[in-house]
Amino acid sequence: MGRIDSLRTKLVLIMILLILALMIVVGSFLLSGVSRFYIDRFYDSMIGTFSQEFILSLQDTAAESPNPPHQMTEMLMAQSSLGIDLSGRNVYILDRYGNILDGSGRETSLPVTDNILTAMKGEVGQASSVNSKNMDLAVPVKSGGGEYIVYILDNKATVNALSDQLITMVLRSLILGVAISVVLAVFLSQILITPIRALTAGARQVAAGDFSQKLEVVSRDEIGTLTRNFNYMSQVLQSTLSQVENEKNKLSTLFLHMTDGVVAFSQDGVIIHFNPAAGKMLGKNLDPTVTFEELFGEEAKFSQVMSLKRTSSLECEKQVGERELALSMAPFSTEQSRGGALVVIHDVTEQRKSERARREFVANVSHELRTPLTNVKSYAETIVSSGDDLPPNLRNKFLGVIMSETDRMTRIVQDLLTLSRFDHGKMEMSFTRFSLADAVQGVFDAEKIDAENHGHTFTLERPEDDSLDVLGDKERIEQVVMNITSNAIKYTPDGGEIRLRVFRKDKHVCIHVADNGIGIPEKDLPHLFERFYRVDKARSRQSGGTGLGLSIAQEILNMHKGKITIDSVSGKGTDVWILLPSAK
Ligand code: ADP
Repeated sequence: MGRIDSLRTKLVLIMILLILALMIVVGSFLLSGVSRFYIDRFYDSMIGTFSQEFILSLQDTAAESPNPPHQMTEMLMAQSSLGIDLSGRNVYILDRYGNILDGSGRETSLPVTDNILTAMKGEVGQASSVNSKNMDLAVPVKSGGGEYIVYILDNKATVNALSDQLITMVLRSLILGVAISVVLAVFLSQILITPIRALTAGARQVAAGDFSQKLEVVSRDEIGTLTRNFNYMSQVLQSTLSQVENEKNKLSTLFLHMTDGVVAFSQDGVIIHFNPAAGKMLGKNLDPTVTFEELFGEEAKFSQVMSLKRTSSLECEKQVGERELALSMAPFSTEQSRGGALVVIHDVTEQRKSERARREFVANVSHELRTPLTNVKSYAETIVSSGDDLPPNLRNKFLGVIMSETDRMTRIVQDLLTLSRFDHGKMEMSFTRFSLADAVQGVFDAEKIDAENHGHTFTLERPEDDSLDVLGDKERIEQVVMNITSNAIKYTPDGGEIRLRVFRKDKHVCIHVADNGIGIPEKDLPHLFERFYRVDKARSRQSGGTGLGLSIAQEILNMHKGKITIDSVSGKGTDVWILLPSAK
C-alpha cells in the first residue's frame, strides 16, 4: 500500500473511517429503534389487556378464592395476550411492600423498580428506558380487602437476541464495506495518482532543463487545469530562460571582446569575474584567488570603493611597466545586499604618449621659431639704432643674416604645413608612372656642385638598361632623395665619400645613400623620424636643418607604400635605404 503519507494510503484510511462512522451511526439507530419498538409493543399489549373490566374480573375472581395471589397468577398466566412464557416473561403478585406472594417465575425477591414504586402509590407503573436490562409493568389491584401489585417482568431476551443478530449483521456489512472501500480507494487513487505522477515526472524534467515534453491533458477537472497550467508555466519558463541565456551570451561575448579590461570583485574583495583584456593590461595571470588588495591595493582601498554611492565612482591611474592605465572603480549591488565592486581598466598609454608628443611639439615649434626671430629682431634693431654710422658692408652682412633667418623660418613653416597636411590626410599627391633612375639622376646632378664644394667624392650607380619605373608623385620622391642626399653631404666632414645607388630588388626598387660621415649614435637611431629630433642641434641648425626632413620623408614614403631604414655607426658613416614598390 505504500508509505503512510502516500495519497493512496490516505484515501484508504478516509474510506475506512467513513464506513466505520456510517456503520456506527446506522447500527446504533437500528439497535435503539428495534429496542424502542419492542418496548412500545410490550406496553401496548399490556395496557390493552389490563382494561378496567379485566382488572375488575381479576379482583372479583381472586376475592372468592382462598389464595387470591395464586388465583390471580393462574388467571394471568391463562391470559394469552400477556405472552407469559415462564422463561423470558413472568408474572408476579406482590404485596403492597413489594414482597413476592406468588408468581410464575422462580424468583423469590425482586428489586424495587420505578414502576413498582409507582404502583405502591396506587397508579399503573408503565415506563421503561431503552437502556435498562428489563422491561416491566406494575398494576395495583385491590381484592377481598387485600392490596396487591400485579407485576409483569420481561428480561428482554427476544430484544437482546434480535440485537445480537443485528450487531452481527452490521459487523458483517462493515467488513464487506471496508473491503469494498479499500478496493474503491485503490482504484480511485489510481485515477488521481496517474496524472499527478505524470506532473511530478514533468516537473522533474523541467527542473533538469528539459522542456521538450508537453504533458497530455486527460481530464477537465482541477488536475486537468493544473496540467494545462503546468504546460503553460514550462513554456513561459523556457522562453524566459532562453531570453536570459541570450542576454548572458550577449554580455559574455561583449565582456570577452571588449578592449577595456573589466574585473569584478566579491564582497570580500576576491575576484569573481575578469575578461582577457584585464589580464593582458595588468600583465598578470588572474584567477579566483587574486584579491583587490593585490591588484589595486596601492591605488585604492577596497572599503573605500564599497562605501561609494551607487552612481559615483573612484577614478585613479596605475602604471604597469610601460603601460599607463586609467582605473574606474565602482560598487555594484544585488537586490538583497551589496554585491561587490567593479573595476574598469582603460589603457591610456597611447593617449598619454600623443598628449606628451603634442606638448613637446608645440614647445619645439615655439623654440625653433623664437631663435631666428630673436636674431632677426636684434639685427634689425642694430641697423635701425646705428643709422648712418653703420658701414655699408656690415649693414649688408646684417641684412644677409636677416634674410637667411627669414628663409629658415619660411622653411620651418613650410615643413610644418606639409606635415600638418599629412596629419589631416589633406596632402594632395599626383601619381604618375616615372623612372626612378632618372629622378635620382636629377637629384644627383643638382647636388653635385654642393658636394664638390665640400670636397666630397660623390658617385651615382644606376642600371644602364632599366629605367626602374615606379608609380608615385615624382616631385615628392625627388624631395625625399634630395633630403637624404643633402643630409649625407651635411653630416660628412669635407672630403668625404658619398655613394648614391639605385637598383632593382625583387619586386621593389631600392635607393641606397651611403656616406662615411659623423654617423649617428645607436641610442638616437630609434628617434630619427620624430619631429624636430636632431642628434646635434647646433650642427643641424648651423647647416640650415629643421629636424623635420626625415619625418616628412617617412610620411611621403608611407603614402607610396614604401619604406625607409637607417643604419649607422657613430664616427664611421651612415647608410640610408629607401624601398619603393616597382610599377607593374
Ligand atoms: P635636419 O633638418 O636636422 O637634417 P632631418 O630630419 O633630416 O633633420 O634629420 C634628423 C637628424 O638626423 C639630423 O639632425 C641629424 O642629426 C641626423 N642625421 C640625418 N642624416 C644623417 C647622416 N647622413 N649622418 C649623420 N646624421 C644624420
